[in-house]
Amino acid sequence: MSPSLSEMLGVDFSTIKPPGRLSSQIAVQPFTPSAKVAALPRLDVYIDETGDRGRGDKASGSPIFGMAGIVIDPLAEPAVRAALRQMRRDFRTPPGRPLSWKEDLKTHDRRMHAANLLAPLTGFRIVFVVVDKASLNSGSYRDNVTLLYNVVAFDMLARVLWAAKNWPGGARQAAIRFGHVAKHDHTDTHRYFQIKQNREPTVPFHLISSLTWVNAAQFDLSQVADVYAGFLKAGFWPNEYGDVEGAYLRKIWHQIRMSETCALNLGIRVKPDSAIAKRQPWWPCPGCQSKY
Ligand SMILES: [Zn+2]
Repeated sequence: MSPSLSEMLGVDFSTIKPPGRLSSQIAVQPFTPSAKVAALPRLDVYIDETGDRGRGDKASGSPIFGMAGIVIDPLAEPAVRAALRQMRRDFRTPPGRPLSWKEDLKTHDRRMHAANLLAPLTGFRIVFVVVDKASLNSGSYRDNVTLLYNVVAFDMLARVLWAAKNWPGGARQAAIRFGHVAKHDHTDTHRYFQIKQNREPTVPFHLISSLTWVNAAQFDLSQVADVYAGFLKAGFWPNEYGDVEGAYLRKIWHQIRMSETCALNLGIRVKPDSAIAKRQPWWPCPGCQSKY
């Protein structure tokens, strides 16, 4: 029997790993604010996702993956908590269970009621990121569930930090809480952000006061972020008849960042481009000139 290539070269190929993503290889370093940033007034940010991270080509999978973020002045939180309590009462959410789009907002009437309760509230801005998976190329971030999450999460992070930098009255520090996702290594996303920090100089990373992944049961505002993520889903994810419902997004449109002019890109980022948004029957910006 002739020697194997492994024996001839004296190399055990089983120990050689294919090159992985850089974000899986570097050490986690916390984002720590400077003393100057730590002295700024704070914004709290709560982010939740909608859809799954799979390729979107299975019948069970979602055609979109998206996130909704609430960027809120702590002074505005009590009114939002009161709206959440109202929803929990009206939808009879059992005590101890987080209110959720999936469990508590199954009907149009409930969704409209939630939008009506949230629409008058002020002191916060909403940021959305949504990916139309069918428009992504094979071989792109569509094909890796971790990378898809990281790419969307970074677009969200950048937008909430730009909101903090340009907050009315002056820049704020931002305490950022992403929703915990089962079977996802959040440290990979943290490291992806570290890499981006060196490559994306326009993003004010220095305004991060804390960055964590939390369970929706821990924070009232995470439950509210879930409701906004549901509004996003309703607007972009066709039901079994091929219809979408944009009424909830339209109802809260004024809360989306930059919606005074055009929400596209800074308030609602649509990937790979905004074509899927502009062709929705509910799209509120006819003849939109946005280059995104
Ligand atoms: Zn527009």
